[in-house]
Amino acid sequence: MVGHSELKDRSEATTSTADQDQRFSVERWATARGSWTLFPELCKGCGLCIERCPVDVIKWSPELGAYGTNRVTVKAEGCITCKICAYYCPDAAISVTVR
Ligand code: SF4
Ligand code: SF4
Repeated sequence: MVGHSELKDRSEATTSTADQDQRFSVERWATARGSWTLFPELCKGCGLCIERCPVDVIKWSPELGAYGTNRVTVKAEGCITCKICAYYCPDAAISVTVR
């Protein structure tokens, strides 16, 4: 159904490097077109994704990200899954999948 979206889950992902495991929280919205995922601890609040989104659906969140700055959130029902935000994010804090 076009126009439907919801925060589907908040979960954690673990990545491993040679000497440590690192945990990231994950926020994922499912939409009619795919999914939009934010790794909040990676968002440094630079605002590039907000600037680049062609349909203006990425907004500032009152919640804080990696450096104590506001992080972003999304009105995912309007996302056209173009992946521009994920492409421009310098810290790989966004992942977009197309259904
Ligand atoms: S995938 Fe495209 S439309 Fe969706 S939030 Fe990112 S820049 Fe905006
Ligand atoms: S481009 Fe990445 S680091 Fe910058 S505000 Fe957007 S999600 Fe956060």
